[in-house]
Amino acid sequence: MSLLSVGTIAFDSVETPSGKRDDAIGGSVSYLGTAASYFSDVQMVSVIGEDFPEEIIDFFQTRKIDTSGIRRLPGKTFRWTGRYGDNLNEAQTLETQLNVLNEFDPTVPESYRDTEYVVLGNIEPGLQRAVVEQLKNPKVVMCDTMNFWIEGSKESLIQTLKHIDVLCINEGEARQLSGEHNIVKAVKAVRKMGPQSVIVKRGEYGALVYAFDEWFSAPALPLETIVDPTGAGDSFAGGLMGYLASIKQGLTPDTLRQGIIWGSVMASFNVEDFSLDRLKSLKDDEIQNRYKMFQDLARC
Ligand code: AMP
Repeated sequence: MSLLSVGTIAFDSVETPSGKRDDAIGGSVSYLGTAASYFSDVQMVSVIGEDFPEEIIDFFQTRKIDTSGIRRLPGKTFRWTGRYGDNLNEAQTLETQLNVLNEFDPTVPESYRDTEYVVLGNIEPGLQRAVVEQLKNPKVVMCDTMNFWIEGSKESLIQTLKHIDVLCINEGEARQLSGEHNIVKAVKAVRKMGPQSVIVKRGEYGALVYAFDEWFSAPALPLETIVDPTGAGDSFAGGLMGYLASIKQGLTPDTLRQGIIWGSVMASFNVEDFSLDRLKSLKDDEIQNRYKMFQDLARC
């Protein structure tokens, strides 16, 4: 079964305590799709500019990602510049150049419209909504967002959340969206906006989940070196939704818990290097071994 994934493809310039990379391949759907491709077929909807290298599209295709939903428009590709200080859980955005994202009309190809598992990466919330409206029978729709859109398009985001099953959001963003400081109150307020399940990403502390009227806490792997946290949230979402699409059992307390661990596995690999460098060439046995490490982490 396929996973429809929508979001940005970007040139990222990132500085972390481990180093610096300019014009590296990033964007929400690059991480989402690559992580998900280890679990299921992936259909990508995104936009690139004239300056985007064809080799990266070729790479997506080697991961069996269907790239026919990626549109190349006149102009420059979306660019994001960010920095992480010692607190690796929080990116500081230095610059966002929307470029061709300003012209993005996310037309879902006809052949993708009956896909049941859908992940909406970080893009303008009205565009996320426009994607959902084109789908015939979505079963599980997950959405990610970030401070940029909470600040600039909050009303639109609130409309979008009415159509979403699972929201993935980081701790600061949950507070910002709800206006509540206490995280339990914040999550409950966000849930009232629409999503049945709310996943709060807490970076190196894992994820806190409220779904099916219960709380679930997933650990993050204790890693000595985190090279670049960029894309961890998207890799998490890609692993989780790729897993759900592969087992085709919908969203239940059990499938969600399992999926969250697969998502955590993919995020833990992603942070070990810049850009897609670590996610690009993972072996199945590395992924399986890391899943076992996660199982051992919280066994009692
Ligand atoms: P994450 O670290 O998982 O939250 O996502 C990082 C990716 O989000 C980077 O590769 C950026 O290119 C992309 N990104 C940054 N700002 C935005 C934005 N405003 N809208 C969409 N994608 C963005």
